[in-house]
Amino acid sequence: MQKTWSFWERQYYPQHWDFIVVGGGFCGVSLAYHFQKQNPRARVLILERDILAEGASSKNAGFACYGTVGEYQSDLKLMGAEAALNLIEQRIKGLEFLKLLVGEAQMSWQQLGGRELYFPDQKEEWEVAQAHLGDLNKTFNKLIQGSLFQLDKENIVQGLLGSIYSPLEAQLDPVKALVQLRKLALESGVRILNSVEVKGLYSHSGDWRLESNQGIWQAAQVVFATNSFGVPAYDLDLIPARNQVLVTQPFVHGLKPGNYHAREGYIYFRTIGNRLLIGGARHLALEAETTSQMGLTSTIQDYLRQFLTKDLAMGDQWKIESQWSGIIATGSSKEPLMQALEPGLWYCGRFGGMGVALSTQFAADALKSLEGN
Ligand SMILES: Cc1cc2nc3c(=O)[nH]c(=O)nc-3n(C[C@H](O)[C@H](O)[C@H](O)COP(=O)(O)OP(=O)(O)OC[C@H]3O[C@@H](n4cnc5c(N)ncnc54)[C@H](O)[C@@H]3O)c2cc1C
Repeated sequence: MQKTWSFWERQYYPQHWDFIVVGGGFCGVSLAYHFQKQNPRARVLILERDILAEGASSKNAGFACYGTVGEYQSDLKLMGAEAALNLIEQRIKGLEFLKLLVGEAQMSWQQLGGRELYFPDQKEEWEVAQAHLGDLNKTFNKLIQGSLFQLDKENIVQGLLGSIYSPLEAQLDPVKALVQLRKLALESGVRILNSVEVKGLYSHSGDWRLESNQGIWQAAQVVFATNSFGVPAYDLDLIPARNQVLVTQPFVHGLKPGNYHAREGYIYFRTIGNRLLIGGARHLALEAETTSQMGLTSTIQDYLRQFLTKDLAMGDQWKIESQWSGIIATGSSKEPLMQALEPGLWYCGRFGGMGVALSTQFAADALKSLEGN
């Protein structure tokens, strides 16, 4: 069946735009919204291939977090102190930006704090973590009142070496956040088309033409905010990483409300009222999880179940309510990426597992690199 457009449809969704963003996750919607605010007369369009989004923004765990002491230790080895501290600062500022943009109530923001747990086989990491606390807190005194990381007295699970409490950490409902962002964008004048997948592109008389399953779209400036799915025919510094999650049915879990991290952040879990969400464990199957294909595997899902049952001593008193996967973008650096590919064509993204904190502010700031193009 050949697609035809009505006169009315074409009035509202013409082929020709000033600015097109491909990808309707946090990053893409924030880019379009901020571009429209700065250029009220511009015609701005978002093209998203799924019904809402299909990568990470609607699939994530809803941690409004900025890193743990364990992650800092591993970043320190990877990139040195200045860059590792910078990452934490960027995330703290990014969360403030998100709160102002979306509004706390609109995304069910709850500042319940986060805890990083150290298990009996992590003696060395636990010693080093405690040794870092003072310096880390001193560094962030300039940004926040009180200590960013505190030794925790709570006996979360029997046998733990200890845990570190982050009072600023919060949790939110990512779909509510995305829906509110879309609302802001629509109100500012942005148009959004879902179920449009961009499959190819070429330049034509100073514009970019995007070939999609819904015909050709054209704009002078195009940004792909497509997570690790990248840009057709361009080889970017992007490595996909699948993340799997499960949520239990309600039960008496006995955990303090809030977020939890373990194993250098590879395992994360949180309360959702009397349910628990747990995800991660990608380090157990790095090769298989380096993929942009959605899917659930028994290696990861069995481990997540076992972590709840054994490591957190929840026994078998709980049942699974839902399981899903999502994809994050990593690369050779942990920094987000705004890359000019050609005149009028960019990629923006690569937020790893920290897109809640990073993506909206990074997108807003990234627009500056469009100036003059
Ligand atoms: C399971 C999981 C848990 C996570 N937990 C957290 C957390 O607790 N806290 C946190 O800070 N971060 C978390 N993250 C990471 C965070 O969700 C991401 O960093 C962030 O959502 C990335 O936003 P984005 O807009 O760059 O990408 P996305 O949200 O993936 O948006 C990209 C969009 O582009 C679309 N697209 C791709 N190619 C095309 C194309 N050719 N044509 C049209 N559309 C296209 C996709 O459908 C997708 O909707 C998690 C991620 C996952 C997967």
